[in-house]
Amino acid sequence: MPPHHSIDFCPVCGGGLCGVRICGVDSPDHLAAYSEQDSSVRLPPHGLVICDECEAIWLEPDLQSDHLYADPIDSRCPICSESLWGEQSRWADEKDLKLLGWSDAIDRSLDVPAEKPDQGYRTGEGMA
Ligand SMILES: [Zn+2]
Ligand SMILES: [Zn+2]
Repeated sequence: MPPHHSIDFCPVCGGGLCGVRICGVDSPDHLAAYSEQDSSVRLPPHGLVICDECEAIWLEPDLQSDHLYADPIDSRCPICSESLWGEQSRWADEKDLKLLGWSDAIDRSLDVPAEKPDQGYRTGEGMA
């Protein structure tokens, strides 16, 4: 699934979209996993910028900042160490962007409507 909101094309691989994900959001599994622990260990929702092609990760919506890579075998969120693509994490929607305060970083021309995921979506640019 392509990111709903992206901040730019990826400067690392050139072809991917740097989409905004929100991690640490509630899900039934996530809540169950934490129910036996002190609730104070839970981190608040946090944002990540991830390239949907090469999985480079930025911790802030600024592609000039240093990027890092998750372990390709067992990719985990660098902030909370939960699975990078787990239940507690998703591509950010409009509400999530507001929560993170990252709305201004989004390039609106790269938005993908959530209602139509993957209908042959391709940016095409630079790919011919
Ligand atoms: Zn990339
Ligand atoms: Zn996380």
